[in-house]
Amino acid sequence: MNDPEGTAPKKCVAKKQSGQPCVNWPIKGATVCRVHGGSAPQVKRKAQQRVALADWERHFGAPDTDGADPSATVLAEIAWAKGHLAWMRQMIGEGDETWIPRYGEWSDRLTRMCYLAHRMGIEERLTDAAESLGASLMALIERVLEDTPDSARPVVRESFMRNLRAIQPGT
Ligand SMILES: [Zn+2]
Repeated sequence: MNDPEGTAPKKCVAKKQSGQPCVNWPIKGATVCRVHGGSAPQVKRKAQQRVALADWERHFGAPDTDGADPSATVLAEIAWAKGHLAWMRQMIGEGDETWIPRYGEWSDRLTRMCYLAHRMGIEERLTDAAESLGASLMALIERVLEDTPDSARPVVRESFMRNLRAIQPGT
């Protein structure tokens, strides 16, 4: 075989009435062409979800799911990105402008994540829940910092920042 990994584009898997293999290209994300089921809403929706998941993997790495629904991992990554952004927004608010370029990067990243999550069929209310989880995380960090003596705050803040980065999924 010239294509041992099976990555070359494949024709529609259906057969024509004559018994000959169909010669059409499948719709993107599915194994059948428009004539052989590819125009059915359910098939189209599944195909769109597969394409979105492939896009997600290309940009952010494969969600670690053991073949299960990737929604949980996707939502956790959105929550993380949201928390990270809130953190950077605060740093910038305190006058640390070195975060501005990173803030822009992560803002784009979060927008892309939410768009792909939507295309994967993950409900908007769930991405909202993930965002509020990120906000809760930030509120928690704020409260801990308030309880921290002024002199120790920079160290604690640096520790949060470093550890948040360390536990970031997919890196
Ligand atoms: Zn076909």
